[in-house]
Amino acid sequence: MIYTSTRNSNISIFSSEAIVNGIALDGGLYVPKEIPTIDFDYENLLKMNYKELAYFIIKKYLTDFEDSELMKCVERAYDSKFDTPIIAPIKEIEGVHFLELYHGPTLAFKDMALSILPQLLNIAAVKQNIKKKIVILTATSGDTGKAALEGFANVENTLIIVFYPGKGVSEIQKLQMITAAGKNTFVVGIDGNFDDAQDGVKQIFNDNEFVEMLYENGYILSSANSINIGRLIPQIVYYFYGYLNLIKDKKIGRDELINIVVPTGNFGNILAAYYAEKMGLPVNKLICASNENNVLYDFLTTGSYDRVRKLILTSSPSMDILLSSNLERLLYEISNHNSELVKNLMSELLIKGKYEITDSMKKELNEFFGDYSTEEETFESIKEVYNSCGYVMDTHTSVAYSVYKKYKKTTKDETPTIIVSTASPFKFCRSVCNAIGIKVDVDTLNDFTLIEELSNVARIKIPQSIKALKHQKIVHNNSYSKLEMKSAVAKFLKV
Ligand SMILES: *Cc1c(COP(=O)(O)O)cnc(C)c1O
Repeated sequence: MIYTSTRNSNISIFSSEAIVNGIALDGGLYVPKEIPTIDFDYENLLKMNYKELAYFIIKKYLTDFEDSELMKCVERAYDSKFDTPIIAPIKEIEGVHFLELYHGPTLAFKDMALSILPQLLNIAAVKQNIKKKIVILTATSGDTGKAALEGFANVENTLIIVFYPGKGVSEIQKLQMITAAGKNTFVVGIDGNFDDAQDGVKQIFNDNEFVEMLYENGYILSSANSINIGRLIPQIVYYFYGYLNLIKDKKIGRDELINIVVPTGNFGNILAAYYAEKMGLPVNKLICASNENNVLYDFLTTGSYDRVRKLILTSSPSMDILLSSNLERLLYEISNHNSELVKNLMSELLIKGKYEITDSMKKELNEFFGDYSTEEETFESIKEVYNSCGYVMDTHTSVAYSVYKKYKKTTKDETPTIIVSTASPFKFCRSVCNAIGIKVDVDTLNDFTLIEELSNVARIKIPQSIKALKHQKIVHNNSYSKLEMKSAVAKFLKV
């Protein structure tokens, strides 16, 4: 399997090099030259547990990894860090299937990929004969940061630096990050939003002089964001897993089409669903759910992408994003692998903040449906589902549910549907308690009291990692301006 850059199809490299580099030198993202397809041998597939399926799917992409190497990565990733051996359970609620991806150590779906990325990166670095220390630079809208810190803490020959928006993340998200253990971890709050953090990180990657200087001092940069293909590929697995489990549970028949609803920010998770579809997963519609930062809704309905607007801070902070990086990979696919065109669109985006795709590209967006949920609708849905069946959704999942309701209302489509549930409600307990109307004075209580309340009222168990958080020491107390991100990196690395 060969990888190339979305902005230069002359590039031809193996997965290990793409994983180590994170982002291509031309600023493009690495993509497989051809998306592999799988043989739907149901007898075989239906027998697989999560690890076996992960091995089977990931192997199609990382062909330069030995079987035993990949096996070891999978074994180490999907172990007792997850609170259920099923790893990604599926629950039928109100006639839809919630694929719960938040049973990992940091309670959000980012664990699904970030528990395996460090293992993949380590092996990739050996294959690439890298003798330097790998510095993972990560911008986070809240969940990637902690999941990456958890995955990379004390991993040999790596350092990890996380930039999070000082305003915007939930209290629990922030606490999870600033208490992160590990001698090789650095956490920085910046005075900006996620887009600023992501822009800043991309600028550092593209600053050749700085990168060169780090190299001379023994460091190379890589990324744990979904711009890294090593993060994206493991996310394909759970779409197949969810589908196969619906067959096992006799909810759908073999080869039956399904819809998939994904609460979307950086377009990584839904892109993984798109790759799954290209690999052969029977998909009717990919439903892209946005919050009030509805750039993707506009894009999917009009074909123009326009980031020139104000970022709104919502109750689903992990989706407060105006620049959805992974859309670049979709553009590459729907333009028939036209890297010249993608490069031009991306430079328009950089200069003008907007671009419009061609008519033939628009036609390729047929399998997508985009809509968004307002704050009011998000809160209303949490309450409605809780009142009718006692199931508690987090705010991000509720965005997806709200958009699915709109989809059903407009299309009357009865296709069986998976809603991707991306975070534990405890992670966003203040909003969730407000939504379901817990009868305490929500505004005056701290998050830990609210967590107790939510647990008592909704009769759901508090995850162990949240309980532990209460007693952990704050070890990262760095705040920098968004213009000082580079100097923060230099300071941490003592260069
Ligand atoms: C990151 C995140 C999302 C958005 O996923 P993308 O891959 O960025 O589109 C949605 N929900 C939660 C809880 C997240 O952490």
